[in-house]
Amino acid sequence: MKTVIWWIRRDLRLTDNQALHAALQAADAVVPLFILDDNILNSAYVGDKQVAFMFAGLQTLAEDLEKLGSALILRRGDPPVELMKVVAETGASAVYAERANSPYAKTRDEAVAAMVDLHLTAGVSIQAPWEVLKKDNTPYTVFTPYKKRWYALLKPEHRAVLPAPDRVPAPAEMPESLMLPSAPELAQPLRYVAGEAAAQAMLRDFVSRTTQGVPALVQYDDQRDFPSIDGTSSLSGHLRFGMLSVRQAANAALDIIQQPQLSKVQRDNASVWVSELIWRDFYMSILHHFPHVYAGNFRADYDKIDWRNDEAEYQAWCEGRTGYPIVDAAMRQLVQTGWMHNRARMIVASFLVKDLLIDWRWGEKFFMQHLIDGDPAANNGGWQWAAGTGTDAAPYFRIFNPMSQSKKFDANGDYIRQYVPELAKVPKKYIHAPWEMPPLEQTLAKCQIGQDYPKPIVDHKMARERTLAAYKASKEAMKAN
Ligand SMILES: Cc1cc2nc3c(=O)[nH]c(=O)nc-3n(C[C@H](O)[C@H](O)[C@H](O)COP(=O)(O)OP(=O)(O)OC[C@H]3O[C@@H](n4cnc5c(N)ncnc54)[C@H](O)[C@@H]3O)c2cc1C
Repeated sequence: MKTVIWWIRRDLRLTDNQALHAALQAADAVVPLFILDDNILNSAYVGDKQVAFMFAGLQTLAEDLEKLGSALILRRGDPPVELMKVVAETGASAVYAERANSPYAKTRDEAVAAMVDLHLTAGVSIQAPWEVLKKDNTPYTVFTPYKKRWYALLKPEHRAVLPAPDRVPAPAEMPESLMLPSAPELAQPLRYVAGEAAAQAMLRDFVSRTTQGVPALVQYDDQRDFPSIDGTSSLSGHLRFGMLSVRQAANAALDIIQQPQLSKVQRDNASVWVSELIWRDFYMSILHHFPHVYAGNFRADYDKIDWRNDEAEYQAWCEGRTGYPIVDAAMRQLVQTGWMHNRARMIVASFLVKDLLIDWRWGEKFFMQHLIDGDPAANNGGWQWAAGTGTDAAPYFRIFNPMSQSKKFDANGDYIRQYVPELAKVPKKYIHAPWEMPPLEQTLAKCQIGQDYPKPIVDHKMARERTLAAYKASKEAMKAN
């Protein structure tokens, strides 16, 4: 009897799992193994909400495997060491896993490949970083041409979706497994149900809701920028842990886009959602080809920015006490729920970097500590985009004005009122800049500025000029080097 190991990492699912599929084709028996890696669990870049979400996903995967006559084997420790123990215990002749792209994962997998027959399959992205290259085989650094090439290179294998297996045959004797440790205690229950079944239901709902109303997918571009509207898929956490295959997600949308009854507007709306999945591939490609972004700026021009890094202002940002309602609502959404709307992510990132002149890496780390979907590639890409230090960065002089962003994307202040209850009674006229409320209005709204809700910690106009000067000085200093 030939036994192999399915080494599960970021692919907590049975449907469209290329590593599991290859393992099942190669052997008579498959041992599904997950190793809790203390290097990751104890990292300052991993937070309780994300761990709790992952544990919940592992629990449902274990239950799903049991239904297929198998079991999830759980170990804890240094992955190569623990993996080799299970290889020895089971007599497994090979290991199958989904290829991961982070520098840490690559080093880990190289160590494993030196000891055992390791087969790495696609799946973490739709197209791999080494597939979407320019004609001269160099990587893209600008999104739009990358996307064009991404579409041109779409092959039948990218359009496939593998069904979940009916059975995962177990060896005569399964190795021992640890019990899943209890999840970290959270102040609030997780916002989303983890696991494959929940992810499949969310995807179905997003692309083809059949109850009244139009599916969110075909009005995505019209709705995606308003944080008070449930207009995006909210699938990022599930995609982060592979509870849903990103290939399946893209194909669900691409199939709908081809339906003849769709209007051009609906088709365009849905295509924008596919573009977001392509952004995900793009940032994985950037991290693969330019691993220096992990530690610093993509563009060296900004290596000499004289960050202010004021601790008290940073704390105010983390706790949603900046005095800018849209920023505070978003930061409280993050800390309470482990998710933040994309428009809000751009606003708070711009505020930290451009209004407070705090190093984007501080924000990147805080996001990783709180986001359920915290992903090294997407998070780094998002932060460098906002800081203007990244690939096709917004030019650094484009600095978000928090009041105009708020007026445009949360016009009635619904999002603000949801997360900043002190401002619940503030009239619409003042909700984006409550410090402008006259004393009588403050009394009527039961919100004394400076007492019930902070005064703005920084003046946006002054901060804008300060940042322009700091970025310009860095560029000049680097040029003089
Ligand atoms: C500063 C900053 C930090 C971010 N950090 C992360 C992160 O750690 N993890 C993460 O998954 N996304 C990150 N994003 C991207 C984006 O905000 C989230 O993916 C999105 O808000 C998740 O909500 P959703 O699932 O409803 O997305 P949808 O709008 O439904 O999009 C579908 C999927 O596409 C992917 N996606 C969407 N936008 C992006 C993008 N700009 N870059 C890469 N992938 C994208 C996600 O997997 C998402 O689930 C960040 C953006 C910014 C500006």
